[in-house]
Formats: sequence, C-alpha cells, structure tokens
Amino acid sequence: MSTAQHRPVPANSDELIERISQLKQQRGAVILAHNYQPPEIQDMADMLGDSLELARKAAETDAEVIVFCGVHFMAETAAMLCSQRTVLLPHLGAGCPMADMAEEDDLLELKRQYPEAKVVCYVNSSAAVKAHCDICCTSANAVKVVQSLGDAPVIFVPDRNLGRFVESKLGREMILWPGYCPTHDLITPDHVAQARAAHPGVPVVVHPECTMDTIEAADYAESTGGMVRLARDPELPELIVGTETGMLHRLQAEAPHKAFHPLTKRAVCPNMKRIGLEDVVRSLATLEPRITVPESIAGQAVACVDRMLSL
Ligand code: 13P
Ligand code: SF4
Repeated sequence: MSTAQHRPVPANSDELIERISQLKQQRGAVILAHNYQPPEIQDMADMLGDSLELARKAAETDAEVIVFCGVHFMAETAAMLCSQRTVLLPHLGAGCPMADMAEEDDLLELKRQYPEAKVVCYVNSSAAVKAHCDICCTSANAVKVVQSLGDAPVIFVPDRNLGRFVESKLGREMILWPGYCPTHDLITPDHVAQARAAHPGVPVVVHPECTMDTIEAADYAESTGGMVRLARDPELPELIVGTETGMLHRLQAEAPHKAFHPLTKRAVCPNMKRIGLEDVVRSLATLEPRITVPESIAGQAVACVDRMLSL
C-alpha cells in the first residue's frame, strides 16, 4: 500500500525501467534512493535507506556514477564523500526546506556569540554550513554524536525538533537553531490520538523531526532506517507510522503480510516526490544535473561528515 501523493506513474514505465537498466550498465552507475521516494523509484533502485545508510553506501561504492534519488543535501553529502565519482541528482528542484533554514553567515554569527561551543549539524544542511561545524549527525545517531562531545556546550543546527529530542534523551540543554521540517512539524498529538482510536492497541512510531509533544504521545521515535527495523520485528504485526508517507511503501515491501497505517496522509514532502522515472533516464543519458562541492569548502565539510562516520 502507498499513500504517497506524487505525479502519476507514466504509462510507458516498463520501457523507462528497461532504458534505465541499459544506461546504468553503460555508465557503470548505481542508483541510491531514500525511503521517502515514490514507489516506482524505490522499486527500481539498487539500494534504499535512511540518510546515514545512504551516506555510508556512497562512501563505499566503487561505481563510476551515483544517481541519487533523494534531495539536494543527500546528493551533496555523497559528492563530498566520493569526489572522484560523478554524483547526479535527477531533479534539481528537489531541495530540503529545513536545510535552507540555516545559512552560513547566520551560523558564523551564532558561533561568535558562543565561541566555546562545539557545533553539531544535522545532515539536512548545506555543505557550506557543514564546513563550519565540528561533527555531523543524522536522526539515527544524533544522541550518540552529541554524547560523544561530553559536557561541552553544543550548538545544534538546523532542526530544533531533533535537537529537543536529543536534549530529552541526554537530560541536557543545547543552543538550538530555530529550523524545522514543514512535513513533520504538522504532525500533532491529535493525529496520534485519532490513529490510536481508529486502531486500538497498535503501536505508534514517529520520526524525531516531529515536535516533542508528538514524540511524547507516540511509542517510538525512530529514523526511517529504525522504522524498517521495527517493521521486521516479529513481535509487531501492525504499526501506525508518523512520517513522510513514502515510508509506507518501503515498510510494506519489507513486511508484505503486516498492516502499516499512516498517522496522517498530509505528511507529504513535495521535494521527495520531484524525481520521476523520466528524470532518471535523462540524468543517466546526459550525466546531468551533477552535484559538486566547491574545493574551498569540501575539505572542512567532509571532515565534519567523516567524524560522524568514524564514530
Ligand atoms: P532519515 O535519516 O531518518 O531517513 O531522515 C531523513 C529526512 O529527511 C527526514 O525528513
Ligand atoms: Fe527536508 Fe522534511 Fe523533506 Fe526530509 S521530509 S527532505 S527534512 S523537508
């Protein structure tokens, strides 16, 4: 089952998938796709995953070309981890509004106010921002990353909701950037109450990009990779899922015999729905749009991501 709203699957999708497979072979390409991508993209990808799994995969691959079906910061992270490879983002309009909420100059100003603070950036940020941070994190490892810094004051950028979640887990305060994900911020405790009433006894998992009151109303807070692990748990035959609705397709493919219910069908990230099969064909045929990171920031930005990967 999939509730993701995105443009219709083209009538010639079999032809397009065949073309993608030919071009992939010619180009020596691998296709990585995020768990929120449209079903037809998920189904033809070589690897699906959360931000951390995809960054690791990009760092390890020996493919000449990486086609990144996700949003800009993900392709940019892949590009900085494999500067020798060609990284393609099939639709340049696939950005992340939360990543756009943190600009380099504003971060530099905040760092001047707190010169003693370590800076942790959520991977949902630009390379220019990453270049000024000490260490990166994803929603799968944010608690562990902040914990690794001991008692030092921490600036956490850009997701205030993930930041609050980390604060609640570690019992400490951080200096939080006011950014947020518009798709997850709209999920409320009322949605949790309504879903529990509709599916009595079924556990609720939400993404830690949700607000703290929604996280507190749920049973689990997990990255999208963590949600896949819950779907595989034989103790959980049914799950209510509070995140971007593309996730439902991934979970249903992992556990076809189980029932997964969206917490709200409104949680759609338009950016995650930009890439279609035609875009992937065009991108493989033209090797555009390419994502690169300017040399002036690549070294520092990659060091910030590498510190996370080596944790
Ligand atoms: P994950 O790392 O959990 O896949 O999250 C990425 C994201 O953009 C969530 O909105
Ligand atoms: Fe960005 Fe939110 Fe979309 Fe994830 S779901 S890519 S955080 S806007």
